[in-house]
Amino acid sequence: MELRKDPITRSWVITGDDVPDSTPRAETSCRFCADSPQPAQVVSTMLSLQGGSWSARAVVHPTPLYHIEGEAGRRAEGLYDRMRPVGAHEVLVENPRHDRNLWSANDLEIEQFLILAAQRIQDLKRDPRFKYVSMFKNHGGSAGQEFEHPTSQLVATTFVPRRVLYELRAGRDYFASKERCVFCDIISQELKQDQRVIETRGEFIALCPYAPRVPYESWILPRTHEAAFERFGLGRSGTVRDLGALLRRTLQRIRTVTEDFHLVLHTSPNTLHRSESLNYWKTIDDDYHWHIEILPILAAGPKSYTFKEVYYSPVSSEKAVERLRQARVEP
Ligand SMILES: [Zn+2]
Ligand SMILES: [Zn+2]
Ligand SMILES: [Zn+2]
Repeated sequence: MELRKDPITRSWVITGDDVPDSTPRAETSCRFCADSPQPAQVVSTMLSLQGGSWSARAVVHPTPLYHIEGEAGRRAEGLYDRMRPVGAHEVLVENPRHDRNLWSANDLEIEQFLILAAQRIQDLKRDPRFKYVSMFKNHGGSAGQEFEHPTSQLVATTFVPRRVLYELRAGRDYFASKERCVFCDIISQELKQDQRVIETRGEFIALCPYAPRVPYESWILPRTHEAAFERFGLGRSGTVRDLGALLRRTLQRIRTVTEDFHLVLHTSPNTLHRSESLNYWKTIDDDYHWHIEILPILAAGPKSYTFKEVYYSPVSSEKAVERLRQARVEP
């Protein structure tokens, strides 16, 4: 496996022929459950606050796409660029229990999971080789869910993923002309218009974006400006529980429409170790704003709603928000 850069979009893709076997193994026991006889290699554990030995933990991915050892060894091949897939690939076990998901766990459990995620991102950013740490969750067969146990995944890479790079550049450009954060401006306009806001909770807002890529796309953002999720998560722990509650409630709403979704956390890149090739670092703390994006996957309808990078959504966000607001969720 190797990383190759698309010279046109400047995005890196991981490619190669020794694709790890993704067919589900017939496992007799779950390796992520608290009482697993063959537990995965533990990286970090959040102690339990409610009895039991732990509440969330990070483990090494059993079949990692990225490997921690060595240097990326970036090299040119004519106009192309390639490098070795150096990185970290971890599984974040959200809950010791096999049946407690982010929409069915309690807010304290979700809070512990979010703090673990913040700790792992912070820790991986200490490695100067890593430019970015992604956290994501794929739930459901059509989302490419890998494990039955409630888990998210963490990938530290030697490059910034394409979508985040777009956002960083757009944030920088908006800030250059207006001296304001585009995300902060979106939040204040959405609150004022109140047409696409799902709900607010404490310092957080859940909304359907003005130009969705897929039906019922939902974002969760802090209403107070902050570029880095991990700085927020470790510094203002009092409000992490509100974020957990809003995440749980938003997922409950989305699950009244479909069970399958992608969830991704967008946070600032590794500014502990600055990159010379990217020139957005000076204002990044002012012009980027962390957030969670949830991209539901609707059962195949007559029309496909994504076509590569050109998104088509047959449900407007104003319609989507009506349905999501009316969904019955637990307090
Ligand atoms: Zn399990
Ligand atoms: Zn902002
Ligand atoms: Zn984003």
